Amino acid sequence: MQLVFATRNKNKVNEIRSVLGDDVQLKTLDEIGCFEELEETGATLEENAVQKAQYVHSKYKVNCFADDTGLEVDALDGRPGVRSARYAGNDANAQNNMKLLLKELEDKADRTARFKTVIALFVNGEEFLFEGIVEGQIAEEPRGTNGFGYDPLFIPEGETRTFAEMKFEEKNARSHRTLAINGLAEFFSSN
Ligand code: IMP
Repeated sequence: MQLVFATRNKNKVNEIRSVLGDDVQLKTLDEIGCFEELEETGATLEENAVQKAQYVHSKYKVNCFADDTGLEVDALDGRPGVRSARYAGNDANAQNNMKLLLKELEDKADRTARFKTVIALFVNGEEFLFEGIVEGQIAEEPRGTNGFGYDPLFIPEGETRTFAEMKFEEKNARSHRTLAINGLAEFFSSN
């Protein structure tokens, strides 16, 4: 079966290829001739994932899935959430985003948070959603140099290390994205 992953992130493509195996022929946006920027104007992770997957599915007439991820912090009413990539502004990088997050949490005792990934899949006009959640805490300061984004600040439940202090394989074995991808992989193996 041929399936398009609506992303330009090569790390994500490799990660998902290894989970889905050889039965699914995974294509990237460039490989189907889609070079335009996909809009993400939804108010939730679900809306953004659906928006991207649906656009590619209907315009290019292919089976397709897209993902969206956010960090939800309880003491901040779920922020940065759907705005995780652009939390500190449209040109924000991981450093600015983490700095703002720590500043907003300065006077907060509750540092509970979760990473959430939503995958929207469109197959032959039908829509399916998959979700992966990892609960954890926001560290007092950034620790570790592995990973990306908010990894230096996120301590998954049952751990003392941040994601950025773990090896690539260790984080991947339990990450929000892997959990959502596993749902997708199970869907394909049982259908
Ligand atoms: P995206 O939807 O996967 O592009 O993720 C949106 C933003 O969430 C990224 O720009 C990162 O800042 C953050 N993010 C997503 N996944 C992770 C992760 O696994 N670790 C740390 N930050 C992440």
